[in-house]
Amino acid sequence: MLPTAFLGLGAIGTPMARHLAAGPFDLVVWNRTAARADGFVSAHGGRVALTPADAARGRAVVVTCLPTSADVASLLDGPDGLLAGFEPGATLLDCTSGDPATSRQIAARLAERGVRFVDAPVSGGVSGAEAAALTVMCGGEADDLARVRPVLEAFGRRIVHAGPLGAGHALKAVNNALLALHIWGAAEGLAALARSGVAPELALEVINASSGRANATENLFPQRVLTGAFPRTFRAALLDKDVGIAADLARAARVPSPLLQLTAELWRMAHQELGEEADHVEAVRVVERLAGVTLRSASVSSTTDAS
Ligand code: NDP
Repeated sequence: MLPTAFLGLGAIGTPMARHLAAGPFDLVVWNRTAARADGFVSAHGGRVALTPADAARGRAVVVTCLPTSADVASLLDGPDGLLAGFEPGATLLDCTSGDPATSRQIAARLAERGVRFVDAPVSGGVSGAEAAALTVMCGGEADDLARVRPVLEAFGRRIVHAGPLGAGHALKAVNNALLALHIWGAAEGLAALARSGVAPELALEVINASSGRANATENLFPQRVLTGAFPRTFRAALLDKDVGIAADLARAARVPSPLLQLTAELWRMAHQELGEEADHVEAVRVVERLAGVTLRSASVSSTTDAS
């Protein structure tokens, strides 16, 4: 039995926590909007914590899955904060797609109380979380990772020790920067092809049998763009954040990175246009608007109004 708390019952946090509720973790959950935690416990079991401190008290592992590292840091202090509840020897397992620099600051604060930190962002999306098939990229000490491994195995299929503290966050940010780049590049390329008389579904079929294929062309475009479905599984605002982390990482490492910087700029623009709630694949709509082309199945509609 590894008493565990889970904070952040969002789009991906909820299916991850569901696996913990079904396992030997004596699960406690906390969510900023309390109604979500109440609903979770009614449906899946566990106990609702009233505050982050309450969630951390008596727990060996505290999992966080929030939008940003700054959000995790904001839960540390005050009488209701995590630090007020943590027991020495506990571990904060941060599944947020966060940034290495803020995580190092968080880890230093925790270390003063004898609490360990492992960054463990995940990849595989909501469907991967539902299937307990996530890839987990971990940063931190091997001993700390070994201690929290049973928790990670509850929702992860491939658990990788990427390197020292922050390495998981860094790897995840670069992975997502590639996702962002592929989505944008595919949208531009398919729009150009559509304008040249090549239908998007045909173009995707050929690309997916050729060397230009990526998750974006194999899955996202056929399932979400051609159909016009655009389900909300991962907010564009979060992908904007991830690309920004990757671009900052490259700059801090003094690696010339014009493509990462440009991708970050494009996604900042898309985020601004689409707002906080749009799905990441909806960035394609921005390219469509600029190109005056709609990339839907069977009929490719050209519009004269690009506004
Ligand atoms: P959501 O926006 O769906 O959920 C965010 C969660 O964090 C909610 O529970 C929200 O609470 C809570 N929250 C937001 N701000 C704060 C805050 N300041 N203090 C406390 N709680 C807060 O995000 P996701 O679940 O999609 O993503 C979570 C993390 O996982 C992100 O870092 C994301 O990049 C990453 N990720 C997401 C994937 C996906 O497919 N969705 C895939 C891989 C990684 P409330 O209910 O009150 O709003």
